[in-house]
Amino acid sequence: MFQQSTQHVASYYAHTCADRLVHRAALEGEHDTEVLIIGAGFSGLHTALRLALAGKRVTVLEASRVAWAASGRNGGQAILGWSCDMPPLEAALGHERARRLWDGMRWAARELRDLPGREDFDCDYRPGHLWTSVMPRRVGLLTDWQHEASHKWGHDGLQFIPRHQLPHWVASERYQAGLFDPEGGHLNPLKLALGLANAIERAGGRIHEQSKALDYREEGGRFVVSTPRGLVRADVLVLACNAYLDRLDPQLASCVLPVGTYQVATAPLTKDQAMALLPNNVCVTDNQFVLDYFRRTPDNRLLFGGGCTYLGGMPKNIAAATRPFLQRVFPQLAGVKLEFAWGGHIDLTLKRTPDIGRRGELYWMQGYSGHGVLPTLAAARAVSDAILGQPDELGLYQGLSNGRFPGGKYLAAPLEAIGKAWYRLRDSI
Ligand SMILES: Cc1cc2nc3c(=O)[nH]c(=O)nc-3n(C[C@H](O)[C@H](O)[C@H](O)COP(=O)(O)OP(=O)(O)OC[C@H]3O[C@@H](n4cnc5c(N)ncnc54)[C@H](O)[C@@H]3O)c2cc1C
Repeated sequence: MFQQSTQHVASYYAHTCADRLVHRAALEGEHDTEVLIIGAGFSGLHTALRLALAGKRVTVLEASRVAWAASGRNGGQAILGWSCDMPPLEAALGHERARRLWDGMRWAARELRDLPGREDFDCDYRPGHLWTSVMPRRVGLLTDWQHEASHKWGHDGLQFIPRHQLPHWVASERYQAGLFDPEGGHLNPLKLALGLANAIERAGGRIHEQSKALDYREEGGRFVVSTPRGLVRADVLVLACNAYLDRLDPQLASCVLPVGTYQVATAPLTKDQAMALLPNNVCVTDNQFVLDYFRRTPDNRLLFGGGCTYLGGMPKNIAAATRPFLQRVFPQLAGVKLEFAWGGHIDLTLKRTPDIGRRGELYWMQGYSGHGVLPTLAAARAVSDAILGQPDELGLYQGLSNGRFPGGKYLAAPLEAIGKAWYRLRDSI
């Protein structure tokens, strides 16, 4: 399906990490390991680091480069919660078990703040997320969540921002109100991934780039995985391939639909211009179904994303496709130079619930449905704990059922696109 390339896409993040990108050798010959992780995105890297620090022999195989896919290209918004929100999780698990999942998410938010300092790398982390409402009739969603978060999930720190106070947060007339979460934040995702990779290697783990896993089989109670130039035997196998799993495990791949999404970075603005746009330097999302998301970077750019494509491709001109949305929020940036424009793929599940599970010693992590910066870390704790003999948290994820998309490989995307067109219409009336 999608071909991994040998270099990172030309994103703002690749630009900021030019001096940190080291090549890691491809796998050659036969190897043996305790845990083999396929995919060096956040899911695979967080899991590998936790296991390497716990003393496991860990090997990571990456078809392209570390964080070549969504983890190195995303909006960098570390927002609490899952793409599906809490109702489907509570419906599937009941309140007490869903609350344990939510507590895992708050742990992930704290861990993401602490981990770079502990492992001695920086990733430009800044605290604060603002969730806004475009439509007056959807302001109630903000206050409903503030109430539910506090009363049901013990998340008390949310602050409602009425329209007249919004200019202190975001210089846009588009929004009716906002909800500030001090536990959310934003960061440079490629710096985070590269920091994790270095930490894994310091802890004794191995990472091989340009080492696509071609297939896997079970042999004598162990897994055998082949790559173009090598082979690894492992006791435990973790599939962390996100939207690229495809033929490696067609059954699991049929539970996720790859969807394209994209963003831009402006040329650096003056410090005053950038501060005027987002005075408190929070990241912002709105509560439209097809949402806009944006934030400032340390070098005073605006990073702005939105839009998605369901048939695998990307708009021919991402900058031109995104500019109208950016200027709808910030008309004062009309004509601003867009220096970087790039896209990537997210892995949608039918109900947008995460698909994190296990069959014997085979584990998988996928289905973040476009919201994965914190969820990948929460899932990595569940999977690594299970591998270390503590399966309780993983058991919660296993209680969420994720079916295949109706229509199979060929009809799922058009059907989903029709669904999206309907929601986009609802966003506009
Ligand atoms: C443009 C964009 C913006 C986003 N913005 C946000 C955001 O602001 N906040 C948020 O929370 N989430 C966001 N997301 C989602 C988030 O980035 C993902 O959910 C998360 O990064 C998924 O991490 P992952 O490790 O599971 O997958 P990925 O990062 O996709 O990594 C999977 C890796 O597996 C490798 N791989 C696949 N198959 C094989 C194989 N056979 N052999 C070897 N390697 C293989 C791939 O090359 C890839 O590197 C965004 C996503 C995109 C695309």
